[in-house]
Amino acid sequence: MELLKHLIAGEQVGSHDGATLDNIEPATGAVVSQIAAGGAREVAQAVEAAERAFDGWRTTSSDERARLLERLADLIEQNLERLARAESIDTGKPISLARRVDIPRSAANFRSFAAFARTTASAAHAMPGQALGYTLRKPRGVAGCISPWNLPLYLFTWKIAPALATGNTVVAKPSEMSPTTATMLGELSIEAGFPPGVLNIVHGLGPAAGQAIVEHPGVPTISFTGGTATGSRIASTCAPMFKRIGLELGGKNPFIVFGDADIDRAIDTAVRAGFTNQGQICLCGSRLLVERSIARAFVERFVDRVAQLKVGDPLDDATQHGSLISEQHLGKVEAAVNEARALGGRVLVGGSRITDLPPRCAGGAFFAPTVIDGLDPACSVEQSEIFGPVVTVQAFADEAEAVSLANGTPYGLACSLFTGDLGRAHRLAEALDFGILWVNCWMLRDLRTPFGGMKQSGLGREGGEEAMRFFTEPTSVCIQYDG
Ligand code: NDP
Repeated sequence: MELLKHLIAGEQVGSHDGATLDNIEPATGAVVSQIAAGGAREVAQAVEAAERAFDGWRTTSSDERARLLERLADLIEQNLERLARAESIDTGKPISLARRVDIPRSAANFRSFAAFARTTASAAHAMPGQALGYTLRKPRGVAGCISPWNLPLYLFTWKIAPALATGNTVVAKPSEMSPTTATMLGELSIEAGFPPGVLNIVHGLGPAAGQAIVEHPGVPTISFTGGTATGSRIASTCAPMFKRIGLELGGKNPFIVFGDADIDRAIDTAVRAGFTNQGQICLCGSRLLVERSIARAFVERFVDRVAQLKVGDPLDDATQHGSLISEQHLGKVEAAVNEARALGGRVLVGGSRITDLPPRCAGGAFFAPTVIDGLDPACSVEQSEIFGPVVTVQAFADEAEAVSLANGTPYGLACSLFTGDLGRAHRLAEALDFGILWVNCWMLRDLRTPFGGMKQSGLGREGGEEAMRFFTEPTSVCIQYDG
């Protein structure tokens, strides 16, 4: 069986003690490969390699760095089908989604930050007749990049690309649930010609390999995407070490529909927002808030559409709804739905695991797209992230109530707002406490815009200039020239 190895100092290596983990295909329950299980020792080797490579990489011209990033993007595109298949097998996501979104976006991440490497300029501040100040932006050293399993290569590269573009070297860890495309990226980085040690990838469990990266004194920058509880632990480890941290955490995102919206478009988008990737995207619109005057008719049509989602083998081109990431995660989703029932929620569609599947998927972790109404907005199910195919519904009377419901959780990542009233859109953009507001759309992103959340959804922003700043340290230089 294939062993997925670490990439350290340009070499693919196993763990020092030969330890491995099973890589399970969640749609079948089968073990498809073995993963080298790294820990503090592998992380230390990777950090050492990254430190050795740093001087050469930071003094490499921006143009050459950009050329290598673009070469890597080309190779991702050339291997799109292989990568999409691996992503689908590791995570249970429909292969059509991996082909259309995950893999093209990974290539786009490298292209976008290659462009930033070529074009980013520093500020200069003239003090006429006296002095000139300018800002020198320097890479910070070894960046630790830790990403989750839901959009594996997409989020992994979203961190690695700006870190490399700005001249940092990287020690990165994918989730052990989705290690294959990270391993393939490592291989492609060798083929692209990156100098050894510039990009290092360590596999392993979060509390072992992930925590070792976070604790390592040679890693001054930590970019993390994952759950809020893990983010909080990372923050408390990093604070006394004065590390710079970027945290992209969970969400409980509202999807608000006013009666004056384009209703067909709102329904289409609400279905996508609720259930893309089986609801396992931090940006999913998991709380549908509908103006009371249209709520009944809207929810009926929405539920109808949800019931039509084609559930099946993720490797089937026609599948729209695949497997959850694991049996264990399915258990959590199932528990949340049962809790909703116990709290008086009505399950309008779905509500249980799916067993009517092709024989290959008999042991898979499939859960039906589920819609629930009748819950108290303050209850645990409406307040906590489920991170699965579950959308809850609430009706609101007016703008004020919509805002109060939308803002009424500990999270503040993303919000969708459907309305035909431009004035209302601007008003609510000011009132809604979210890092991202989509008006009449969902998950439409220009990679140059800031990305991240407020409140318990995170700390800092990624994307474009924000990422270029995060991975650099400014030195303010002042040159006096008057006598
Ligand atoms: P986790 O927080 O469990 O894990 C995220 C990553 O951190 C994984 O690589 C994990 O490793 C690693 N990790 C776990 N424990 C530690 C630790 N103590 N120190 C360092 N690293 C650690 O999240 P999930 O993988 O379960 O991902 C789902 C969560 O991610 C959801 O809450 C979701 O909202 C959030 N998310 C946020 C996004 C955003 O941009 N805001 C985007 C996508 C997801 P391993 O898995 O190998 O244990």
